[in-house]
Amino acid sequence: MSTYLITGANRGIGLEFARQLKNRGDDVIATCRSASPELNSLSVRVETDIDITSGESVMKLRENLNDLKVDVLIQNAGIAEFNSLSNLDPQSIVNQFEVNALSPLCCVQTMLSQLSKSAKIALISSRMGSIEDNSSGGSYGYRMSKVALCMAGKSLSVDLKPRGISVAILHPGLVSTRMTGFTSNGIQPKESVKGLIKRIDELTIENTGTFWHANGEILPW
Ligand code: NDP
Repeated sequence: MSTYLITGANRGIGLEFARQLKNRGDDVIATCRSASPELNSLSVRVETDIDITSGESVMKLRENLNDLKVDVLIQNAGIAEFNSLSNLDPQSIVNQFEVNALSPLCCVQTMLSQLSKSAKIALISSRMGSIEDNSSGGSYGYRMSKVALCMAGKSLSVDLKPRGISVAILHPGLVSTRMTGFTSNGIQPKESVKGLIKRIDELTIENTGTFWHANGEILPW
């Protein structure tokens, strides 16, 4: 049994992480800005008022944990605003960079002292953050923020390897959540998270710093 901390756990993929991990007997600390009825019904520890862009609220989270150690930190919270070239919104691009790239990195740094020996960190990035895989263009803010998150993950994997902490950079697949307008082309959170948990289970210090699809495929940078 391990202790997992998940950001953005009130809905979508984060909520499903909390559900599946709780169901298999792990301890879950679900963080969110506001809890949802679905999250409250899971009987996991819920930490509310955690906005990942606020250093103060992440510090508060760390204080609330006291000496509780986290074995797996899942940086899941994210936003997507699809900026096209003809409709660039610089502020939207900055916001996505802050939420999707900079804040997960700062959260990891703040939570480092809370991580157990040989802990794991999972950064939920996106295939849209792959440069080599980009054949459709557009989505400037989202793509730029997720490629930055991939780079943060790679550097973290190098820097934390001597401490025995491993890092996975993960793509959930195209998933039917609010972010994707509950697309009917996507898979359900249940299927995505089943794969994501398998990837985290298989993460070791030897394969740290890899960019995986939830289905196990290794993705190009
Ligand atoms: P949702 O939009 O359903 O959920 C996003 C979650 O992030 C919500 O819990 C939201 O909380 C939280 N969040 C957003 N901003 C903040 C913030 N500043 N502080 C704290 N929490 C915040 O999306 P998904 O579940 O689909 O996405 C989860 C992750 O998976 C994201 O990182 C996304 O980029 C990634 N992803 C998703 C894909 C998909 O197809 N769905 C594909 C590739 C990657 P609140 O309710 O308070 O807004």
